[in-house]
Amino acid sequence: MMTFYPGPSKVYPEIKQFMADAMDEGILSQNHRSQPFINLCKETVALVKDRLDIPSNYHVYFTSSATECWEILSQSFAELNSLHLYNGAFGEKWMEYRRRLYTNTYGVEFGLQRQLGMTQLQKQVPSDTDILCLTSNETSNATKVSENTLKAVRERYRNSLIFVDATSSMGGVNHDWLSADVWYASVQKCLGLPSGLAVMVCSPFAVEQAQRLNHREHYNSFLHIHEQMLNYQTTHTPNILDIYLLKRVMEQRAPIRKVANHLKERMMWVNEELVKYGYQLLIESRRQRSLTVAAITAAPEKIDKLKKEAVAAGITLGNGYGKWKPHTLRMANFPAIEDTEVEQLLNFLKQAIK
Ligand SMILES: *Cc1c(COP(=O)(O)O)cnc(C)c1O
Repeated sequence: MMTFYPGPSKVYPEIKQFMADAMDEGILSQNHRSQPFINLCKETVALVKDRLDIPSNYHVYFTSSATECWEILSQSFAELNSLHLYNGAFGEKWMEYRRRLYTNTYGVEFGLQRQLGMTQLQKQVPSDTDILCLTSNETSNATKVSENTLKAVRERYRNSLIFVDATSSMGGVNHDWLSADVWYASVQKCLGLPSGLAVMVCSPFAVEQAQRLNHREHYNSFLHIHEQMLNYQTTHTPNILDIYLLKRVMEQRAPIRKVANHLKERMMWVNEELVKYGYQLLIESRRQRSLTVAAITAAPEKIDKLKKEAVAAGITLGNGYGKWKPHTLRMANFPAIEDTEVEQLLNFLKQAIK
């Protein structure tokens, strides 16, 4: 079975061998305060920073999931007002999650078909906004917030904290890390690993602000994580296997610039082919379209038929998500997916529409 599900998504085939290696190396039975774990953690952070081209003064932390990052960022910056810009299910969930905990949480919804514009921002985002929250790739509807938009937001809101949910783009898009203060991603999407781990990338400004607020009420308060990680330690026994797998996957990976270029070209090709065959892409504008998740839209009966035929052909496609569920199909374009698999997918879709 070939899978294009956008999360959990295809894991690298090498994971099987890496898991066996983890057993052989004995790392899974090491205490998480031991030197072997500290070494593993340190090497993994260095590799992640190298392969993803993360600035040397940014910090890398390990958490359990993107959802946990919503929680960490909510409670650790509680008294700051938080404005969430979203156009899809994950961005909205993050906003709702925080609003249930703290009422100083605001949402601004923007359109599916138009890139978040600076005029809209100026109108709807007060200049005294403490935190701006964005989703770099909205997995639910296959849109992205472009690198240029993120850069423009950073320039306009220099004194605000900017948090970015990068769950389905980290590892596949060459993010300009300086455009935001916190970026986080679960590993079971674009990073091609088993679920149960997330990577959080933080600026010195985020650390400074956390120190100023000094929240320490939770086991996973930002400062506890930060302070432990200064010694390559974690606040609790982490997912050691996943950290080990992340290290092994990063070791074999090309630099992000190369990976991102390849994925971008592949996605443009996929979109062109789909249109040529007669499919309708959910997102009309090229600027707005995600580079890591594609979505087509059709009548619900047609979507059902496609899904069933795909299963018979040994292909798992992604269901639509949230309110787009009945009339969309999603396909991941993550680095663990091979070009030959994408070719097979396109061959299937080409004959399926006939
Ligand atoms: C999948 C996803 C999440 C949730 O990830 P978990 O690992 O389930 O916490 C959050 N945000 C985005 C953009 C996602 O795609």
